[in-house]
Amino acid sequence: MSRCGDGGIGGTKPYAASGNYISRMSNYCSHCRFDPKKATGDDACPITTLYEDFLSRNRTRLKSNTRMGFQFKNLDRRDDGERRDIRQAAAKLKTEFTRKTYL
Ligand code: SF4
Repeated sequence: MSRCGDGGIGGTKPYAASGNYISRMSNYCSHCRFDPKKATGDDACPITTLYEDFLSRNRTRLKSNTRMGFQFKNLDRRDDGERRDIRQAAAKLKTEFTRKTYL
């Protein structure tokens, strides 16, 4: 996500990924209690939740980036209720993370 902040100088797309991508590229997820394919629910991967929320919040800014087409196509499979649930889950995660990190 830091690469996204420079307007494309350091990278042609945001340097961010879902848990599903991490799962495909590593073995980190093999013993994790979370499901890297899920963005909501008790076993949702927090990385996937935050990534999909990031995409939703930055759609206007990123939609013209052709390298992001696949990611937005996947996001568009979500209905409005799922998008709302992802937004709420991401907000909860960010609140919990902030408390654990700074308190
Ligand atoms: S939190 Fe998500 S990305 Fe991290 S190991 Fe677990 S399933 Fe994989």
